[in-house]
Amino acid sequence: MADIELKAVQKAYGPVPVIRDVDLAIREGEFCVFVGPSGCGKSTLLRMIAGLEDITDGELRVGGERVNELPPAQRGVAMVFQSYALYPHMTVAENMAFGLKVKGVDKPEIERKVKDAAGILQLSTLLDRLPKALSGGQRQRVAIGRAIVTEPRVFLFDEPLSNLDAALRVQTRLEIARLHQEHAKASMVYVTHDQVEAMTLADKIVLLHAGKLVEERGSIAQVGSPMALYHRPASLFVAEFMGSPKMNILQATLRQAEAERAIVDLAGIEVSVAVDARRAAIGSQVTLGFRPEHIGVGGVGNVRDAAPGAALPVRVRHVERLGDVSLLYVDFESAPGRAPKVLTVRQEGSVRPQVGTPLSLRLAPESLHLFDADGLAFARSIELPT
Ligand code: ADP
Ligand code: MG
Repeated sequence: MADIELKAVQKAYGPVPVIRDVDLAIREGEFCVFVGPSGCGKSTLLRMIAGLEDITDGELRVGGERVNELPPAQRGVAMVFQSYALYPHMTVAENMAFGLKVKGVDKPEIERKVKDAAGILQLSTLLDRLPKALSGGQRQRVAIGRAIVTEPRVFLFDEPLSNLDAALRVQTRLEIARLHQEHAKASMVYVTHDQVEAMTLADKIVLLHAGKLVEERGSIAQVGSPMALYHRPASLFVAEFMGSPKMNILQATLRQAEAERAIVDLAGIEVSVAVDARRAAIGSQVTLGFRPEHIGVGGVGNVRDAAPGAALPVRVRHVERLGDVSLLYVDFESAPGRAPKVLTVRQEGSVRPQVGTPLSLRLAPESLHLFDADGLAFARSIELPT
């Protein structure tokens, strides 16, 4: 049974639509991440589930029951905010106990629950401190502890790691993953703009559109496992959002369209792509996409020869050495007389070609993506990891 169900959910502030046509089911125990660019409505959607925002239209069900009209406290959800929202004059223990006290839970039971949560979150030695005497990471753990003690059926997180520095973000991310394992029955809905958090935490990612695409296609760009969004992006928007550095994008013309492959013309070079292209018209404009980490490089010097595939002649413009990897920025002459397109290629950290070196990029058919003129992906015609 789906624990949380949204049916044709809409949200508008006055005449302005913010959330459109959201249909979504989140299973019991599932970790669901809402991700998308700033302003796409992630927080609004989460706050609608929490009961902090009205639902303009559509239905929200939790545990099979319609909850549109229920106040937040009766929905069985607990929310953790980016800003922690702790009471400054209360100790850690009092902050964590507050919700239970308001509900009239017995003192011994409150103490037991606070002690258990403090243990899980490594706060046991800090229970008597005030929030001002805690680090950002510790404050966020108190906020999470306050949610845990209420034993919600659904945890709601709104960018809980955004105010933490990089090292603490990673540590707290791991703690949230562990929290999920320990509360196997609780569903988690987690908002972030960070695709690494989405990839690492989610069972299911819900990627939301922003701006014009919301009006054209509704709020949801794609729902699926992290690997599904990475390997089978449904649209150019998804393809470019997921993955870092971003997918390379080039315009091409369709020359052959078959069930197992398409052949496109890319600046006079024939490129074979492993997609089902039967629905497309020969001669139509298409967009070819390939990720920086899926490009082979043949060429000179310390650059290894690569697997076969279409060969794109490029010239090295700039190299960034990050230690474990090198990012090559290369110029590709996509049309005579026009400025070259800059492509990004990810290689091992030992690879460091000189600026100006000519290279040959190898594009294997199964690592290429193809999109039609509306930016919708052609189905890929090969088995991919899940
Ligand atoms: P996100 O969390 O994805 O960054 P939000 O859910 O906060 O986005 O906001 C989505 C959109 O709704 C934004 O364009 C924002 O300006 C608008 N919005 C949010 N709250 C209100 C409000 N109370 N009144 C009017 N517009 C709002
Ligand atoms: Mg937000």
